[in-house]
Amino acid sequence: MRKLDPALIGFDIDGVVADTGGAFVRIAREEYGIRSISIDDITSFEVEECIDVDPVIIETIFSRLLNDPLKAGLKPMENAMPVLHRFAAEAPLTFVTARPDKEPISLWLRHFLHPAVFSRIRLVAMGVHDNKFPYIKELGLSHFVDDRLQTCKALSREGITSLVFRQPWNNNGHDLPTVDDWQAIHGLCFD
Ligand SMILES: [Mg+2]
Repeated sequence: MRKLDPALIGFDIDGVVADTGGAFVRIAREEYGIRSISIDDITSFEVEECIDVDPVIIETIFSRLLNDPLKAGLKPMENAMPVLHRFAAEAPLTFVTARPDKEPISLWLRHFLHPAVFSRIRLVAMGVHDNKFPYIKELGLSHFVDDRLQTCKALSREGITSLVFRQPWNNNGHDLPTVDDWQAIHGLCFD
């Protein structure tokens, strides 16, 4: 089968490129002394619905990850950066995030990407969770990787091949194509 052209695929950031769930659990443990939760307990995208943690603490941790992801210790998912650099050798990287502010996540990407790769990225920060489709269409993508099921389902209805990046909060209730990790994403485009 012919492999996918790397120019045609785009990526969500949190929960796909960035290990946002892992950072949440670590900050909760190290800074708030909450030892009772693991990433597998986060079975819903609405975190406050699935773990018994003060919503104010949940909100505070997510604000930190949004406003200063480097300082908050947000790390890339395993193999994300090597695979993104491999893709970047073929085409500029494209990211579409629901984050409200572009600057903090742009600085985060700049930290982990080679300067020549970073200088060519296309980064859209939408500020809302819904309606990624117009951006993805405008950017000329046919495939998009996201960890939020609702987003994947909506994109799929619009004719985008949406790939669910497997996380504990998106395991159930769909029959969309799934990628388990960054090696699987690499395999979409390369042997
Ligand atoms: Mg996400």
